[in-house]
Amino acid sequence: MDQVSNELSFKEDTHFENVLKMLQFHARTNHNQLSVPVNRTAWVTSPAVVNAYYSRSKNMIVFPAGILQPPFYHPAFPRSLNYGGIGVVIGHEITHGFDDRGRQFDKNGNLQQWWKAEDVSKFYQRASCMLDQYGEYKVDEVGLKINPVNTLGENIADNAGIKISYQAYKTWRETHDEEVTVPYVNLTHDQLFFLNFGQIWCEVNSPEAMLTKLRSGQHSPNRFRVIGTLSNSEEFSEAFNCPVGSRMNPEKKCRVW
Ligand SMILES: [Zn+2]
Repeated sequence: MDQVSNELSFKEDTHFENVLKMLQFHARTNHNQLSVPVNRTAWVTSPAVVNAYYSRSKNMIVFPAGILQPPFYHPAFPRSLNYGGIGVVIGHEITHGFDDRGRQFDKNGNLQQWWKAEDVSKFYQRASCMLDQYGEYKVDEVGLKINPVNTLGENIADNAGIKISYQAYKTWRETHDEEVTVPYVNLTHDQLFFLNFGQIWCEVNSPEAMLTKLRSGQHSPNRFRVIGTLSNSEEFSEAFNCPVGSRMNPEKKCRVW
């Protein structure tokens, strides 16, 4: 700790030097890691960040404290909202271990083929359905379609994540009743589950940010993370009585997991 505080003594009126010190410090810290065993439980994010991630090389899912707050989670929320929020995120991160890249790493995080060739081929047959589906989604404001290859892993994780969490919620409901309701919102708990899933992806982008996201991002724009996932979900259509063949309940549905 002393060494860190000595190296990182900043001054108010030397911003440029402060930045250089910070860069040097990070370079030295990274360089020092070359000679020591890998710390497999170290985080590459800070606790206040509202995000979560899966590390393929450590086979680890990480949920910083920042994401454990509304709209993702609150201890006083009905469970339907929590399962539709943080529950879906947990299911999403677990699924990354079984997406098009995560599947190539074994349980210890080493790049090693551990699936049968037959399973790999079935996996890609199913995944090609999502390539077609997401490749059709266009963001009208910027006139560009989603890149279905770049976003495949995230789309697979979104679709399986909501399925896992919904099943977990139904299992919990077998032995528990919801005691909390949402005032003035006349929806069933199954509907609230999906409502909060939509809520967590609410976002606004400038056209420039949207272009960057479409050209180089690994996530589909949030609007399509919701539409793509829910239009593949039988459970969603049951909860909201969507007629077969309507936009949110197409006959052809994609499913990898
Ligand atoms: Zn993800």
